[in-house]
Amino acid sequence: MSPPPRKPRPRRRGFGRRKVCRFCADSTIKIDYKDPGSLRMFVTERGKIIPRRISGNCAKHQRSVALAVKRARNIALLPFTATGV
Ligand SMILES: [Zn+2]
Repeated sequence: MSPPPRKPRPRRRGFGRRKVCRFCADSTIKIDYKDPGSLRMFVTERGKIIPRRISGNCAKHQRSVALAVKRARNIALLPFTATGV
């Protein structure tokens, strides 16, 4: 007896639905270093900036986010590293 043939799984090829940068998609969202609440969406729990391929931001906006996060860190709105974990 031979094992049953595997059914090929439908695999998603290419970028059917490309994730678009949320800042490009919605110009009402502002990247504000004084707003840690929205910046937190772009840093991990440990305080690291989420890379572009995960956040889906375009290069331009990712730079703005990174800059905003760094500024926010400097004025102690965001942690450099996680504390108390
Ligand atoms: Zn963008």
